[in-house]
Amino acid sequence: MDTTMLIGASFEAGEEAAEPILNPRTGGLILDLPEASTGQVDRAVAAARGAFDGWSRTTPAERSAALLRIADRIAAEAQGFAALEALNCGKPINAALNDEIPAIVDCYRFFAGAIRTQHGQVAGEYLAGHTSMIRRDPIGVVASIAPWNYPLMMMAWKLAPAIAAGNTIVFKPSEQTPLTALKMARILAEELPEGVVNVIPGRGQTVGNHLIHHPGVDMISLTGDVATGRKMLDAASKTIKRTHLELGGKAPVIVFDDADIGAVVEGLRAFSFYNAGQDCTAACRVYAGRKVYDNLVADLTAAAASITLAAEDDTTNEIGPLISQRQRDRVASFVNRAREQNHITVTTGGAAMDQGFYYRPTVVAGALQSDEIVRREVFGPVVSITPFSDVDEAVGWANDSDYGLASSVWTRDVGRAMATAARLRYGCTWINTHFMLVNEMPHGGLKQSGYGKDMSSYALEDFTFVRHVMVKHG
Ligand code: NAD
Repeated sequence: MDTTMLIGASFEAGEEAAEPILNPRTGGLILDLPEASTGQVDRAVAAARGAFDGWSRTTPAERSAALLRIADRIAAEAQGFAALEALNCGKPINAALNDEIPAIVDCYRFFAGAIRTQHGQVAGEYLAGHTSMIRRDPIGVVASIAPWNYPLMMMAWKLAPAIAAGNTIVFKPSEQTPLTALKMARILAEELPEGVVNVIPGRGQTVGNHLIHHPGVDMISLTGDVATGRKMLDAASKTIKRTHLELGGKAPVIVFDDADIGAVVEGLRAFSFYNAGQDCTAACRVYAGRKVYDNLVADLTAAAASITLAAEDDTTNEIGPLISQRQRDRVASFVNRAREQNHITVTTGGAAMDQGFYYRPTVVAGALQSDEIVRREVFGPVVSITPFSDVDEAVGWANDSDYGLASSVWTRDVGRAMATAARLRYGCTWINTHFMLVNEMPHGGLKQSGYGKDMSSYALEDFTFVRHVMVKHG
């Protein structure tokens, strides 16, 4: 197992206190990993600065070729990456291997193509005797900070567009899930010039905090909690760094009376509980028309109760545990506070399991718009269902949220679907599905979900800045 960090071309052990890395399926220790010292963070930033001039002047074709090689290396080592991600996050091996790795490989391949086909404003003589043109140039050194829910995928979403655009990077994985990032560091060191990507493990309040305040960093890219996002903005304000923030979510799901309830239940069974609900787009806040509400509660309850988890044969598991004891306790406390309300019924789940950090898939019926369980991000396998009377009420409640990342509408009426989607204040609205992502389309939000765009050519816009070059004739 790779346990050393990458600074420039050198692999070295962390110089500070060790963080225990746990297996969420059992709660057992995988290893203790020392974190980077401030001196090591400084050297990583210096290595990225040193690499910037050369890397930013490579051609798109050269950067594209490097990304394609990285993609091929991950594909060739798919089994090893998936096994490590499954070990560190508790993900079912099939989810890591068959869902995540192909999407990760495709992310690097997408940006390898996208950087060679950028579009822009037409050059021309906007002032007589002068030609103006627009350039899109890299921003510089990016401090890239990732969460624990999809460690290798978040690394791909952050690295691929930033590298493609010609930036250099200091990447910090979550202190809970650094293992695939350290394995990835070996590939990055072999496929990229020295210093283009540096990987430093450690905690947020130490390594992360030193990194985001570093004067040598030009941009901060975070996927994480809203509170962490605020810290990034504070740090950025000191030297006016650019920020790219992907924060939490609380996705509303509007189910109209004419929806195909079988399809809704099948969809929610998958899209509410995937990754044990530790997903900022999880379909966790259902609003159901009054005519379908009772059937939906009954059918979703049965569907959630049928999800396989914690089986000894991991190939049969559909979801894994939560990432930590702390996260499981947090989820349990949300559900316990909800069930104290007289109007709420926990129709299935609502309990931790004896093994590891597992929590049973949970349905909370009869929730009101004002309830904490409807308003706050739980980040666990918990779905609330609330009946609504008409479209205005449903849209009003859906939009009545601090978050604005993802949403879905379920109906057989295409006009109703389009009209409702147009009124939703979310970065993404799915119709008769949820959760589906493609690298060609953007992922990002509004309000306290942040404003950074991942995936798609819009991510290239975020990791570049627009310049005007004017040439005087004669
Ligand atoms: P977190 O904010 O606690 O941690 C995210 C990263 O930030 C970690 O690497 C952490 O070490 C680092 N960090 C924490 N404090 C820091 C500080 N003071 N300075 C610098 N770095 C610091 O989030 P998490 O618990 O790892 O992830 C879960 C959260 O991420 C959820 O709220 C979820 O909604 C959000 N998330 C959002 C998206 C999205 O695309 N919008 C995707 C995945 C997760």
